[in-house]
Amino acid sequence: MQAPPWDTFQKELTACTRCARLVAYREEVGQRKRRAYRDWDYWARPVPGFGDPDARLILFGLAPGAHGSNRTGRPFTGDASGAFLYPLLYQAGFSSKPQSEPGDDLRLFGVYLTAAVRCAPPENKPTREELLACSAWTRVELGLLRNARVYLALGRIAHKALLDHFGMKKSAHPFFHGAHYPLPQDRHLLASYHVSRQNTQTGRLTREMFLEVLLEAKGLAGL
Ligand code: SF4
Repeated sequence: MQAPPWDTFQKELTACTRCARLVAYREEVGQRKRRAYRDWDYWARPVPGFGDPDARLILFGLAPGAHGSNRTGRPFTGDASGAFLYPLLYQAGFSSKPQSEPGDDLRLFGVYLTAAVRCAPPENKPTREELLACSAWTRVELGLLRNARVYLALGRIAHKALLDHFGMKKSAHPFFHGAHYPLPQDRHLLASYHVSRQNTQTGRLTREMFLEVLLEAKGLAGL
């Protein structure tokens, strides 16, 4: 199947209603809001990827945060994950500025951000069926990213989703921080702990650890 143009992909994706539980949750969160964001008009739809369409490095996360990208409409923007991630993207030379604010002119260079599931799940836990449903969008999106050389999975679930996408067995390609598996055509699959608050505030994932993975990915991608 020929990949659709980007604008068609994004238009169709942001109208997706395949997962009834997630549609209900994303909209309910957008209505209920968090007190600190009560003046916000939440995005409350599937969150499209963000970055360079010619990217050589793809960062593949889990899902939008309920009050983060489900609010702002941009991956990793508006919560603790993004506050950790974007300064390190900047430090590694991948972005035009160290913070991401919705509607700003931030540009990513050679990098594209997306996720295994594109609607915020309750407790950040998508079901197997929801992961399977959203893998159809992953197929289209990764098909559009023709220059990708390195796929960096953030967390165990994203890693499994990429293994499924590439038809690789989990038993032969276990998840661990710093994992590196070759893909055909001189491409690479890397894995890191997710940049969630749960990992970064407990010291499980430090800035140094994540920067090291980013720089490895940068080298492998030839950036
Ligand atoms: Fe559609 Fe993916 Fe959202 Fe499910 S998670 S409703 S498949 S965009």
